[in-house]
Amino acid sequence: MSMGNYERIIEKISKISGLDKAEIERRVEAKRAKLSGLISKEGASQVIAAELGINFDNEKLKIEELLPGMRKVNTLGKVINFSQPRIFKTKKGDDGKVANLFIADETSNIKVVLWDTNHIGLIENGQIGQGVVIEISNATMRDNELHLGSFSELKITNQDIENLKLDRAFKEKNISELKNSDNVKLRGFIVQSFEPKFFYVCPECRKKAIQDSGFFTCSEHGKVAAEKRALLNVIVDDGTETIRTVAFHDILPSMGLTDLENIEQMIVQREKLLGKEMIFYGTVRNNKVFNTPEFIIEKVEEINPDLLIKELEIK
Ligand SMILES: [Zn+2]
Repeated sequence: MSMGNYERIIEKISKISGLDKAEIERRVEAKRAKLSGLISKEGASQVIAAELGINFDNEKLKIEELLPGMRKVNTLGKVINFSQPRIFKTKKGDDGKVANLFIADETSNIKVVLWDTNHIGLIENGQIGQGVVIEISNATMRDNELHLGSFSELKITNQDIENLKLDRAFKEKNISELKNSDNVKLRGFIVQSFEPKFFYVCPECRKKAIQDSGFFTCSEHGKVAAEKRALLNVIVDDGTETIRTVAFHDILPSMGLTDLENIEQMIVQREKLLGKEMIFYGTVRNNKVFNTPEFIIEKVEEINPDLLIKELEIK
């Protein structure tokens, strides 16, 4: 069973400090209340850890446990992808070099950015490539990326990692914490839904098909038998803020919208959406028209009632 980040941190604090988990969670909630909810549970648990004098400095963390803002990060991962080094001009006008890796373990995957020429040399000379397991020490989390500077260490190890988690990694976040291009899992209530919008796509390349004098044409495939697709905008509120979301065609049935062409059904089904609490997975992007963040839903999940009861019992 995979545990959330927060649970893992609580568990670690409990193990090291000897305090029981309920007590630590109480302190986390108190800290959040004091900060008017401006900090996530994970963030607050890290503050509590620091207050208790616990540092995770020498501890090797699973990739799923890496959080924005963490310093002196130690972790282990298998290289699943890498890019050839790229040269850029520094502010001083010198040539700088940077290279990217993607590493995975059994919990998650992450982008690693190398700034040190010695580290980059390991890619250039072929020592680091796909399938190589690397050990990273003293790296820094910048947003959702792990950055290695000249003080960081990068070692190749013989350890192997199995059952790599290669799916896109979604981090749990509050709406108020969202940044552009974040891949996130968020839990919130649908507080508003708009009328579905319809558009047509080319059946071959899925690009938008343009209607012209009774025919649909694709810029690539010419005259096509276009498919009608729908999208729906809903506003989600998680108590920290609201965000406008976009759910495309294939997601809609899992949100309870099954009969898009039936206007009466649609009214009933949209009505049912209001006040519904769900878990949303997706990506944050900037809506160019409104110049506001927008959440593109890739997957939704119903709240598991058993899990909810368990959480309530803990409280
Ligand atoms: Zn096409």
